[in-house]
Amino acid sequence: MAYTVHKLTDYSAAALERASDELTSALERETNAVTDESGLKQFRDRWMARKNGVLTQINDLWLKAAPKDARPAVGQKANWLKKHVEGMVEVAKNRLALQRAPLHEYGGFIDLDLRVDRVDISLPGMHRPIGAEHPVIKTTNEMVRVFQKLGYSVADGPVVETDYYNFEALNFPPNHPARDTQDTLFIAGQQSKTQRERLLLRTHTSPVQIRTMEKMRPPIRIVIPGTVHRNDPPDASHTPMFHQIEGLAVDTNITFGDLKGTLDHAMKEFFGSSVKTSFRPSFFPFTEPSAEMYVSCFICGGSGRRGADPCRPCKQTGWIEILGCGMVDPNVFEFVKDNGYDPKKVSGFAFGMGADRIALLKYGVDDIQLFFQGDVRFLEQWA
Ligand SMILES: [Zn+2]
Repeated sequence: MAYTVHKLTDYSAAALERASDELTSALERETNAVTDESGLKQFRDRWMARKNGVLTQINDLWLKAAPKDARPAVGQKANWLKKHVEGMVEVAKNRLALQRAPLHEYGGFIDLDLRVDRVDISLPGMHRPIGAEHPVIKTTNEMVRVFQKLGYSVADGPVVETDYYNFEALNFPPNHPARDTQDTLFIAGQQSKTQRERLLLRTHTSPVQIRTMEKMRPPIRIVIPGTVHRNDPPDASHTPMFHQIEGLAVDTNITFGDLKGTLDHAMKEFFGSSVKTSFRPSFFPFTEPSAEMYVSCFICGGSGRRGADPCRPCKQTGWIEILGCGMVDPNVFEFVKDNGYDPKKVSGFAFGMGADRIALLKYGVDDIQLFFQGDVRFLEQWA
């Protein structure tokens, strides 16, 4: 039986609630009964028409007739019912639209309201631009490929590391001053754990060396790309998150000559066959001896000048520092000795470089922050 609005004789809260319930269940029944466009129009008119629609009747028969003291409560209820009716008309409308045009026809992207109208198939399609490889990722992939061609495989590991893998097993003993050179971001609330179990954001990709040697017996040759974190305030050349590419080769009889030959070849592959390499003594806790490797400036060709101007990237020296490297310290092998890495029997070399810094040099970018701001205008230059 169709719903009609009755006059209220009792304006108590309970009576108002009963009348409202009667109305909403009728509304729900009639919403469900809408099956086509003309039904929808009838439904909308019956409930919302200014002249004699249900909502108008409520206004006249309930609100206007209400005694003064009941008016605020009736007014509140009438407002709520109005919103409810409008909502249910939308429901009926959307349900019809869905029946006419199942979601899959439009890939599910079109707003329900739009689907009620006709689809103009002569309109141009949605244009989805193809992205470009980020310069840091591109640099990383190119460098990794150079080592893959030399027979290296790619290894990776967790970014949230334990103190053990990030420091201790790499020959940074607790309280060793070398730890201070890597401003570490520690995970909070670790006081109850022993130092070696405490979690931190890895400050270098080197923990993956230990993790891989625990899993794989020698010989190994791995290249490790990944993100690392340090507590460095952002400026033109620093950022709290950056990218490293690291390598490790372990076998019997690996010498410093193998290290130099491998890296010299890799740099010629990456920067061009005319670059030269130069090794200068350095210190890292996990390699002994250690070196910094420079390549002849690929921007000025090693002259230190660009025409009449000084070459800024190499600071007019003709050389650019690219990476740190060295022979794996026997103390590091001690931590994985049980898996075949007896320092008396095997030797190896390791190297690590900053992918962001190489990308800065390679693409002539003067502010590392640009790599992390996600500004499409900057990024699409490499599309
Ligand atoms: Zn230069």
